[in-house]
Amino acid sequence: MSWDIKGIQQWGWKKHPAGAVIKDPGNSRSFKTGGWRTFRPVRDEEKCSQCLICFVYCPDSAILIKNEKVVGIDYDFCKGCGICAAECPLDAIQMVDESKLNK
Ligand code: SF4
Ligand code: SF4
Repeated sequence: MSWDIKGIQQWGWKKHPAGAVIKDPGNSRSFKTGGWRTFRPVRDEEKCSQCLICFVYCPDSAILIKNEKVVGIDYDFCKGCGICAAECPLDAIQMVDESKLNK
């Protein structure tokens, strides 16, 4: 789809179409956003010290915790932003090109 935005600078606010609107709060679990990902975080369990920093920083709550330990990553909702890998103090998370992984 392409939009005709000729003359957009002169549009004024009334001509702009409505943007994305969230009508029902709390619906994020209904929309799996993992398909946006181009890089996948892969955690090395041997290196991980269970400090939980990745859990604190993940903007999508995709770091899975059980009994106060990281047990995995929810790839249905992880968008692959790489924040967990950047913040991990032990480099225990590597971002891997999705296209190079077997799906
Ligand atoms: S930040 Fe790194 S070391 Fe800490 S829990 Fe996450 S993966 Fe493990
Ligand atoms: S890559 Fe981003 S969204 Fe995915 S687990 Fe790490 S911090 Fe969360």
